[in-house]
Amino acid sequence: MIPFNLVRAESLEEALDLLDRQPPDVKIIAGGTDLLVELRSLSPREKGPGIVLDITPIDELKGIEDNGSTITIGPLTTHREIAASPIIREHAPLLSTACSTIGATQHRNIATIGGNVINGSPAADSVPALIVLDAEAVFKSKNGERVSPLKEIFVKPYRTDIKEDEILTALRFERLPEGARSSFIKLGRRNALAISRMNIAVIIVLEGNTIVEARISPGSATPLPDRIKAAEKILIGNEPSEELFRRAGKEVSGEMINRSGIRWSTPYKQPVIAALTTRALREAVEKR
Ligand SMILES: Cc1cc2nc3c(=O)[nH]c(=O)nc-3n(C[C@H](O)[C@H](O)[C@H](O)COP(=O)(O)OP(=O)(O)OC[C@H]3O[C@@H](n4cnc5c(N)ncnc54)[C@H](O)[C@@H]3O)c2cc1C
Repeated sequence: MIPFNLVRAESLEEALDLLDRQPPDVKIIAGGTDLLVELRSLSPREKGPGIVLDITPIDELKGIEDNGSTITIGPLTTHREIAASPIIREHAPLLSTACSTIGATQHRNIATIGGNVINGSPAADSVPALIVLDAEAVFKSKNGERVSPLKEIFVKPYRTDIKEDEILTALRFERLPEGARSSFIKLGRRNALAISRMNIAVIIVLEGNTIVEARISPGSATPLPDRIKAAEKILIGNEPSEELFRRAGKEVSGEMINRSGIRWSTPYKQPVIAALTTRALREAVEKR
């Protein structure tokens, strides 16, 4: 492991001060489950961060709040806390499911949602769920606050637009509307400790038996996290049916190829993402 100085920030102000003074040399650490793997992979000749800034003592970056319409999650909230939260289970159940699938139990006890987002992996399990929830990301620096739709922060795989002097301070989204049903399904190489081969997050809103709103976001399928609007359009204004869900699934796999091109994994991924989408839509209709 390359050498570095570990600095623990006791307050957000202290952390922002340090980032302001020495931005290129400082790397934030939360649970460390991505960052430590990254630092360990550097050879002694490669330049790592001079300072690793531990933000875990900062209480204001932890926890889940519901103000009656908006749910705010602190970036240091762990996957275990999100999976177990009654607020999330009630108002964003697919995020609870997504976080419950991440890593193993010990892992979920320390790995954070903020780290999952900022790591920028196309396989990050919380991200498709947050994308269909239309989440916003809030960043702070010494110069003030910046709010961005979550989907717009991803610039390329493993890269977000976070600035060197910024900290992600919150993720927030509206509670799901009445009549909304959702589902998150992950297909891993094995059941425990699996980084997603593919996953899918869906929300549909029904009025009577008509789909009035649909949001679909596949993970590990497109270079950047996004909703698949063409598939959503197929659903809106129609009654749920197996045939309709199959058409939407086919549209998602077609869009995956449009955006990612034909790759070595396409013969596997194309039918799998279509089937996962169909299954997630069916599951969403069958449960809340
Ligand atoms: C064995 C193993 C299994 C895994 N399984 C899964 C899985 O099933 N699904 C999945 O999605 N991921 C998985 N991961 C990846 C990883 O655990 C998650 O991405 C985790 O959520 C990262 O959170 P962390 O707190 O550990 O982040 P860290 O490693 O501390 O940080 C990750 C990145 O985010 C930055 N960062 C963290 N917090 C902030 C903040 N508040 N503001 C600004 N920057 C910040 C750090 O600087 C770093 O660049 C796995 C990893 C391992 C090693």
